[in-house]
Amino acid sequence: MNLEKFYLRKLPVSICPTWRKISLDGEVKKHKAILLKQPYTLVLEEIPTPTPSGEAVLLRVLSAGICHSDVLRWRGELPCPEGRRAGAGTHEVVGEIVARGEEVPEPFKEGLKVLVCSQATYIKEDQYTRVGLTHHTKNEFFGGMQEYILLPHYRCLVSVEGLEDIHAAAPLACAGLTAYGAIKKLRCFIKPGDHVAIIGLGGLGLYAAQWANTLMPYAKLIGVDLKEEALNFASKIAKFSMLINASKEDPIKVINDAVGGEGIRGVVDFVGKPETISKYLNVVGHLGAYIIVGVMGDKITILNLRDIVTKEITIQGSFMGSLQDQYEVVEFARSGLINYRAVVTRRLKFDVEEVSKAFIDLDQGKVIGRQIVEISK
Ligand SMILES: [Zn+2]
Repeated sequence: MNLEKFYLRKLPVSICPTWRKISLDGEVKKHKAILLKQPYTLVLEEIPTPTPSGEAVLLRVLSAGICHSDVLRWRGELPCPEGRRAGAGTHEVVGEIVARGEEVPEPFKEGLKVLVCSQATYIKEDQYTRVGLTHHTKNEFFGGMQEYILLPHYRCLVSVEGLEDIHAAAPLACAGLTAYGAIKKLRCFIKPGDHVAIIGLGGLGLYAAQWANTLMPYAKLIGVDLKEEALNFASKIAKFSMLINASKEDPIKVINDAVGGEGIRGVVDFVGKPETISKYLNVVGHLGAYIIVGVMGDKITILNLRDIVTKEITIQGSFMGSLQDQYEVVEFARSGLINYRAVVTRRLKFDVEEVSKAFIDLDQGKVIGRQIVEISK
């Protein structure tokens, strides 16, 4: 199925009873969407509201989060396919099912509040999707910054019923999931009392600190950032044994002094610059692991190759998470084991000026925590 064509063509009114109610005399309705027209330019436009068929589902978007990778698309540094321009290319979405195709089963019925797992919007089954590793396949997604959104199939939807604050759950679709995937990978390396450092306490690092507290409460957590404000905020929502402002003190010296030069067992790097990687690899001790999440460069230089080999240090990339991980993330939030609400520091109106400013602020490093746009009640 060519999703772009599917999305843009005028479709007949669905046989779905709920949809019939909200359609006007068989006319295809329109809805408001913020479009990424060209780099640095968001505009509000009305676009046709598609009608789902087959396994597809139409959501009324409740909230959409703004991620750093959305800013890269907005800057023109990451490609933004045509079908994703509507909705400003964003991928953190919670919504309510308002219509579904004839092949969508009953549990995904109209009225259900769901989170869209952007790493499970694949169209073709393959060797990865069949075993649940949905983030290793090609996923298609339409931008979330719009009133309605069509998803190619229901399998990417995770119920968020029972969550106290469904709007604030939107960043769980990327920031929460990505941080969870990284901490899950690190967990098998960490023993009680080991130190773990999180490099970068932005939106992802704030979730990661909470995941570390939840999944390995026996680890001693070190938080590193360049901004005092970010460190202060992090100290309020997660438990750290040490917080380091790397713009004021030498983090390597501080960490080595604290652990007696033995090195620490784990680092999760949400920055991913060649400089951060070559710097913080120096604090990883024997049998430790360095998990890279951020990608702010092309190449890394490993300065201490002998250490990597003789200390048996693992360097591992971590990319978002699977649909299975997404279910786990939502369940942790539902059970109150992470404070997903605390990470959301700005709730914006569905207004193109306000959203544009949010992109600018994020680009300029002015955002502590995570921003969401509340699109409907
Ligand atoms: Zn993201």
